[in-house]
Amino acid sequence: MPFIPQVPGSAPEVRVRDTASGELVPVAGGDSVTVYVCGITPYDATHMGHAATYVTFDLLGRVLRDSGHNVRYVQNITDIDDPLLERAERDGVDWRDLATREIALFREDMTALAVIPPDEYLGAVESIPTFVAPIEKLVADGWAYAVPAPDASREGALDYYFDVAKDPRFGSVSHLDESGMLEVFEERGGDPDRVGKRNRLDALLWRAHREGEPEWDGGSLGSGRPGWHIECACIALDHLGVPVDVQGGGTDLVFPHHEMSAAHGRALSGASSFAGAFVHQGMVGLDGEKMSKSKGNLVLVSTLRREGVDPMAIRLALLARHHAHDWIWHDDQLVEAQQRLDTWRKALSGNGGPVADQTVDDIRAALADDLDSPRALDAVDRWASQALTRGGDDPGAPGVLGRALDALLGVRL
Ligand code: ZN
Repeated sequence: MPFIPQVPGSAPEVRVRDTASGELVPVAGGDSVTVYVCGITPYDATHMGHAATYVTFDLLGRVLRDSGHNVRYVQNITDIDDPLLERAERDGVDWRDLATREIALFREDMTALAVIPPDEYLGAVESIPTFVAPIEKLVADGWAYAVPAPDASREGALDYYFDVAKDPRFGSVSHLDESGMLEVFEERGGDPDRVGKRNRLDALLWRAHREGEPEWDGGSLGSGRPGWHIECACIALDHLGVPVDVQGGGTDLVFPHHEMSAAHGRALSGASSFAGAFVHQGMVGLDGEKMSKSKGNLVLVSTLRREGVDPMAIRLALLARHHAHDWIWHDDQLVEAQQRLDTWRKALSGNGGPVADQTVDDIRAALADDLDSPRALDAVDRWASQALTRGGDDPGAPGVLGRALDALLGVRL
């Protein structure tokens, strides 16, 4: 946890746009706010889309702390999954070495971008023993069922699936109809055509061991490995309790991942909702397409850092876009961010400036309004422009504003 300066004045209540209700809702919770954000699958380096997501939830943590909350932030790492195994196989490396390398690079990138680390950062692999009993419970309670796995390494082995038809609230996160769900299910890790499933949308909870794949003890489920969605449901339940106040991730996780983990989490906990608010980061594109590993159109944080780009300029380029909107990355945005950073540095290095209290209030108000970072940056621009053109006679103003930029926006000058 880095040192976060105190900012004078008081902070307004933080509101976020909840995907499930479509409403702007206050972030609930008492003194303590729980935030669960879905982490990376560590098979490739951090691109701008990931960076935007983790900077957004870093911003949320910062404004919640500023408004007096104690933030409990948990993030997982999907360090066992099909894409990781496929990439390791393609590159001829051990999947564990690939994961270890990419996790280390991710953490380096996050540190450079001044992202405050989560309180708990949990790998799926280390957590597998804690998934088995909940899956067994889902089976025992009738939420899940077995499907024979004739291609498994052992005769009579079974895969386990969650029965979405048992859940009256299924669909309450994404509000997609069945055809909308089926459209993205397969592309995002689902297996609609698996023979023996009751419903094409049923999600895998436990996969029996296949030859050539890693395996873990699954108790009565038999040896194998967990499905993706149950991991987040169990980690959130174990480490934060359900409902969490905020469940976060990119918009590509709304369905199936957040819909399914919410369904699993409700089934396990009996809670009527998995999260007080589902907050989603828009997709970052390049050349008109979503930035993604499968398309190969990535701008990597680590590449920019290697090229000598100031990580604070990368952070400012991300903050210049509202988190809820999709946007297209252009190199010009980095140039503009660097210019903005230079202007701010110059304005804040003077002996005094215009009184900054209103600017700090404006930053707080913008961020409390669904993390409107572009509006917060505009407020700083106005102060900087005044300071550079007309000066100011408050000797404490640059210090106050500098601390606010550090604490609230995570921008260190
Ligand atoms: Zn997740």
